Amino acid sequence: SENDQINLIKEHLKSYKDFPKQGVVFQDIFSVLQNPKIANVLYDVLLNKAKSIKPPVECIAGVDSRGFLFGSVLARELEIPFIPIRKKGKLPGSTKSVHYKLEYKEDDLEMQEGVVREGQKVLVVDDLLATGGSLSAACELLSQAKADVQCLVVIELSELQGRKIINVPIHSLIVC
Ligand code: AMP
Repeated sequence: SENDQINLIKEHLKSYKDFPKQGVVFQDIFSVLQNPKIANVLYDVLLNKAKSIKPPVECIAGVDSRGFLFGSVLARELEIPFIPIRKKGKLPGSTKSVHYKLEYKEDDLEMQEGVVREGQKVLVVDDLLATGGSLSAACELLSQAKADVQCLVVIELSELQGRKIINVPIHSLIVC
């Protein structure tokens, strides 16, 4: 069952206290990818979740950088476009940017112009929802482009209440 799959993933998820700074419990999603069987379980659960979203997802937007990893796997499986939402200064051509605050730093996120169309059903993918700063910035970029946005994260740190600052539907696999 999906519950068994999620528990299996949780068992392989390593966490590190006080990384990258005091007070942060870092959830290392890469620890799951070290085991190909468990990685496949994770990709399967993610894909099923993405497929269950209504209306059907038409485009995946991956958030720099672990969102690229899971987002591009989903885009491939669903046979839909993948677009990157990157830290500032990385994307060529005309871009839009939004400032955001992370649990442990601040930065700007950028998206290329013309990569989504008005009303397009875009799923924003990232590994983890903490304060919600980066996901809300990504959603802001897509909303400015008039896309119809939902979010999917592998891990949600519920204590930080990140979903409170995001006004679109958020799907998460593991809540801790
Ligand atoms: P936030 O914007 O605060 O929701 O932070 C989410 C982003 O920062 C994600 O892209 C995560 O990769 C990273 N991040 C924040 N907190 C953690 C954490 N405790 N463990 C792992 N990654 C984190």
